[in-house]
Amino acid sequence: MKVKDKVLKILNENKETYLSGEELANRIGVSRTAVWKAIKALNDEGYAISAINKLGYRMSKGDDVISVTGIGQYLPTNLADTVKIEVYKTITSTNTVLKQKASDDASEWLILIAEEQTEGRGRMNRKFYSPSDTGIYMSVLLRPDCHVTQALFITTMTAVAVAETLDEIFDADTKIKWVNDIYYDNKKICGILTEAAVNVETSKLDYAVVGIGINVKEPKDNFPDEIKDIAGSMTGLELQKDINDNLRNRIVAKIVEKMYDYYKELNNHQFMGKYKEKSMLIGKDVYILTDENKENLHVTDIDDEAGLVVRHDDGRVEHLKSGEVSVRIKE
Ligand code: ATP
Repeated sequence: MKVKDKVLKILNENKETYLSGEELANRIGVSRTAVWKAIKALNDEGYAISAINKLGYRMSKGDDVISVTGIGQYLPTNLADTVKIEVYKTITSTNTVLKQKASDDASEWLILIAEEQTEGRGRMNRKFYSPSDTGIYMSVLLRPDCHVTQALFITTMTAVAVAETLDEIFDADTKIKWVNDIYYDNKKICGILTEAAVNVETSKLDYAVVGIGINVKEPKDNFPDEIKDIAGSMTGLELQKDINDNLRNRIVAKIVEKMYDYYKELNNHQFMGKYKEKSMLIGKDVYILTDENKENLHVTDIDDEAGLVVRHDDGRVEHLKSGEVSVRIKE
């Protein structure tokens, strides 16, 4: 552990209490100058550690800054050497920047996280609103040894990882809306966008970049009018359950831990059982967004290729492919 990690850990365990530079230095076994440097680096990462002459350093409760050090404290130790995290205050789009790094040969499990995106994207270049300080915008670089037809399962395994993480941390019951969205309380709180590069000779993936955008709390300026009826967040639950401290760092670490585990199942799709259990659409009547007649389709299942199995009113059964359609629940 670096000095910075150790200082953060001790201050975290002693929130609202002043600890002198000397005490921190003694507990860690380094010089007071090293402690001072670590505090400066943490403040540069966005932490608000107050320093008062003669009293020492103190961290307040309720601190929820996304930082490499903060996430590192919650990641299982076996992932510490595998996962490499970069945190940005603002970025165009974590997917766009990570794709560039992937083309430049970056290693698997490089993860970019931003407090804000200025050009966040959804499917088909739709916008993903990504305001500062209230969400998590992260992209994960994977280099799976799999055929391009399997790429969709990267999205579905990520959906399970995110939904389960939010359920565990907030004690909530989130739902997965086929194929790439997470809903809570009938509002979309997370979108997932997987973008991949394919080796044309082998038809295997060269890399996949999985982008995850989560509205953890309500944006400071509320959601813009065009999405205010669709978008939601987990806001309120963090206060109710007193879990605001390091909330987003914990969410990120848990998502990464779960993705790492489900990634081992990428070829046998075992996580699809959980995906189906959390499905928001199975058993519901839906329509295809682009269908002017809004024909009634009854969702009966999700098939082995992650297609949506629907029954038409005339009894015909069809398997919808996610790349082709967007569906909406019938009111
Ligand atoms: P589908 O996935 O069914 O095709 P979708 O509308 O959810 O449909 P995506 O590409 O997954 O499409 O996401 C982009 C859409 O998400 C935007 O068009 C907008 O309606 C909505 N959206 C944009 N920003 C946010 C946000 N921060 N939170 C929730 N929803 C958002």
